[in-house]
Amino acid sequence: MATVIPGTPALARHQRTPALLLETIRDLGGVTRAELSRLTGLSRSAVAHAVAALLADGLIAEREPGGGHAGQRGRPATLLTPSRPPGHVVGIDFGHAHVGVAIADTAGEVLAESRQGADVDHHADEVLDTSARMARDLLSQAGVPLSQVIAVVAGIPGPVDPHTRALRPPAILAAWAGRDAGHELATRLGRPAEVANDADLGALGELRYGAGRGRQDFVYVKASHGVGAGLVLGGRIYRGAAGIAGEIGHTSLPDATEWCRCGNRGCLETVVSLGPLNRRLARIGIPPATGGAGWPVSRLQENALAGRALTEAGRILGRALADCLNPEAVILGGEIGTAGPPLVAGVRESIDRYAQPAAAEAVQVVAAGLGARSELMGAVALAARQVAGLR
Ligand SMILES: [Zn+2]
Repeated sequence: MATVIPGTPALARHQRTPALLLETIRDLGGVTRAELSRLTGLSRSAVAHAVAALLADGLIAEREPGGGHAGQRGRPATLLTPSRPPGHVVGIDFGHAHVGVAIADTAGEVLAESRQGADVDHHADEVLDTSARMARDLLSQAGVPLSQVIAVVAGIPGPVDPHTRALRPPAILAAWAGRDAGHELATRLGRPAEVANDADLGALGELRYGAGRGRQDFVYVKASHGVGAGLVLGGRIYRGAAGIAGEIGHTSLPDATEWCRCGNRGCLETVVSLGPLNRRLARIGIPPATGGAGWPVSRLQENALAGRALTEAGRILGRALADCLNPEAVILGGEIGTAGPPLVAGVRESIDRYAQPAAAEAVQVVAAGLGARSELMGAVALAARQVAGLR
């Protein structure tokens, strides 16, 4: 299912071109001819020829870029999108302290979304009820009957067992461990539903709609109440054999001694997560980040001490990321990752200092393009993929 097939003989590549491009277009949702050429390594003329055939067969459509996601680099070009099956999808994002819900068409275009604060850690039943109610409200606002919803995907802050779909400890608090939240959502909504790891969804959201568009290999870091990473390798999400790839929050720091919720001492999360950073910033008058909203940007900017605290947090996070693979980008998400330039600069500094020089040179460090919406949009993207028969 890889979108790039290195070493395939030229003739075979030529015959496989339309199928390869169709899969890539379905994967990315919206992509230009130039991006297709770059991603697949095929010549522009081969791409143009195969795209014309796919358009003629009605398997894809052309669309002017819009919705505020395109045109970040250079002049906007026509996007090629998969033709859209009928129906709608629902994406849900469970943070530790908020619930976000979006409804979209089967091509992943959002029709309506909402977010509210909630004590997700301690009240699993209530929060599942809340998310189902929010989904029903949004559907009724948009005039979409529930029966038209084909797939529901919910992101959860912790590892999900790829076989049993149960949440693995130290996922979140005891209220959620071992539950099959996908089944519980499906029961509440009467529609097919499943859960996925939130950082994986954040990576998928950035891949399709944000700072990861057009990239093949990157690490998305969700730095929030916990710290998790989603890996995109060869343009696809890499979950790992046990669904716990990228659980970097529990790597141990040499100088940290505080006990972590996982039972060990000195984990990355005990230093770089919302709890300790909120406490530190509160001492210099910055109100806490809650409900997925982040700190007020203007307060951070006008306070030099806040900038220093964030740069230091970035350095510690960057040290943990420096050893990791050889990505072309590190995309920083969550309230901490999107707190502003000092945090990004701190991560950059540590990667330059500790990673292999060639790896450090190759990697870009950027804040998430979707801000607080990466995980929610990733849930929408995964649900839309499922409708198209792709995982
Ligand atoms: Zn830990």
